Amino acid sequence: MQEKGTISIHTENIFPIIKKFLYSDHEIFLRELVSNAVDATQKIKRLASLGQYNGELGQLQVEVSFDEKAKIITISDRGIGMTGDEIKKYINQIAFSGATEFVEKFKDAKDANELIGKFGLGFYSAFMVADKVEIETLSYQEGATPARWVCDGSTEYELTEGTRLQRGTDIILHINSESEEFLQQQKLQEILTKYCPFLPIPIKFGTRTNSVPDGEDAEGKPKYKQVEIDNIINNTHPIWVKQPGELKDEDYLNFYKELYPFSDDPLFWIHLNVDYPFNLTGVLYFPKVKKDVELRPNKIKLFSRQVFITDEVKDIVPEFLMLLHGVIDSPDIPLNVSRSFLQADGNVKKINTYITKKVADKLAEHFTKDRAGYEAKWEDIGLFVKYGMITDEKFYEKAQQFALLQNTNKENFTLEEYHNKVKENQTNKDGQLIYLYTNDTGKQDGFIQTANSKGYDVLLMDAPLDNHFISHLEQKLEKTQVKRVDADTIDNLISKTDAPPLALSEEQSTAVKTVFETAIAKPNMQVSVEALQADDMPVTVTMDEFMRRMKDMAAMGGGG
Ligand code: ADP
Ligand code: MG
Repeated sequence: MQEKGTISIHTENIFPIIKKFLYSDHEIFLRELVSNAVDATQKIKRLASLGQYNGELGQLQVEVSFDEKAKIITISDRGIGMTGDEIKKYINQIAFSGATEFVEKFKDAKDANELIGKFGLGFYSAFMVADKVEIETLSYQEGATPARWVCDGSTEYELTEGTRLQRGTDIILHINSESEEFLQQQKLQEILTKYCPFLPIPIKFGTRTNSVPDGEDAEGKPKYKQVEIDNIINNTHPIWVKQPGELKDEDYLNFYKELYPFSDDPLFWIHLNVDYPFNLTGVLYFPKVKKDVELRPNKIKLFSRQVFITDEVKDIVPEFLMLLHGVIDSPDIPLNVSRSFLQADGNVKKINTYITKKVADKLAEHFTKDRAGYEAKWEDIGLFVKYGMITDEKFYEKAQQFALLQNTNKENFTLEEYHNKVKENQTNKDGQLIYLYTNDTGKQDGFIQTANSKGYDVLLMDAPLDNHFISHLEQKLEKTQVKRVDADTIDNLISKTDAPPLALSEEQSTAVKTVFETAIAKPNMQVSVEALQADDMPVTVTMDEFMRRMKDMAAMGGGG
């Protein structure tokens, strides 16, 4: 067998385009080649299990190695291999058509960056970093002869008899001068760790030393010796591929540590597991949220059959859940397409809805089963729930049963419980229910005391997002207004609690009132005097709620 040929493609200048535009994300070549090697290995395993391959399987692992001097990176597998004809078909035609398609799409894409890294360029991504690629392969098929393919990145290739003696494939990359950074142990280790940590077949990258027990010394103390062991990059059985039933809390916590080594333990997690109408597995963790720490979205990692794809999960995960951590794995998410296509994709929409529902169900279950435990975590959970309620109508519906309102006495109520609590005592003349809240217990302490002394409850709303949440509640709750405790509204409430007699005479009150009004001299402030008891605040100065909001908005730079 000896053949030279021209790869037939429509776009002559495919390589310059690949090299130029994929340059920013060129490290994905390794993900592509390693996952091809894994695919080939899984295929031979499947054939063996179906009885269609009866030869020796050997050690089924993928090995990545490099030679800095020779400027070579090699990816070797013991998979199904390829015959010469298969190379022509799968590499020359199919892989290339994928690359051609990429270029076609690329021409239409508005934003080149959108496409880069999301398009699985497959085998041909090798040419981003190599100016020559060799394949040495031997097919598993009986009587197959080894084949060798070489291509220097032009459309010319050479196919000859190869030298490989064992079933499987070597992909040999002759690294180009701009890509020599990849000829470093640390760089390769880093890329493999990023893209391959959970591939289903062991990935070996060199060896490392490990201490193992080696008997006892003369004093009876344990001795250790250093041994060289294979440096295996990946955990081939991450928890999301297992059934929830076989896992303990500890497994989930350990996996969290594996994903985010420097984080606190998560609050709880949700194991996703669907096979209809789409395939999706994963584990989502609720992290502990610190009030003053900036939240970092995009901590969820997206995999496709255990191959890391991206941590930009926008569109796949509902926006309000992007603050969660964890992994999602789905072969049904179209990864090779542009964002706009992803948004329109039916599967993606279903996945989005499913995740929202699943998260809501889990929270509801948690709330029902262990309300005290749930309340204890509310400070952290609340942020997600509120964000979800504000941004997602369906989630709001479900969250009504487990969203909590906390008052200044640290008592928690569901929306319904709170409604019932205050409905008797906190209506105004128009029959509107008035919820009072504080966002600053320090500054508004006097107002809170006054409200409480009148028998009114005050909600604590000082968490991030709470001001948005309040406006949202006002829109959603019927005949209900949510007012800050220092607003004038409180004066208009019809309290059922009998007001204690005033400690000042009417004349005294008017005098005090005039003094304050003159001193403040602001028409939008109201002064009311009602000294009740000796330890009470005799004077309250309130600002019209509307005026206050306008002021707040102005301070925020308008909008709202
Ligand atoms: P994809 O993996 O999406 O099919 P690729 O461009 O990555 O596309 O690979 C094209 C084809 O080349 C594969 O489908 C497979 O048939 C063949 N191939 C690539 N690498 C190997 C390998 N290591 N062993 C066997 N076949 C391979
Ligand atoms: Mg591939």
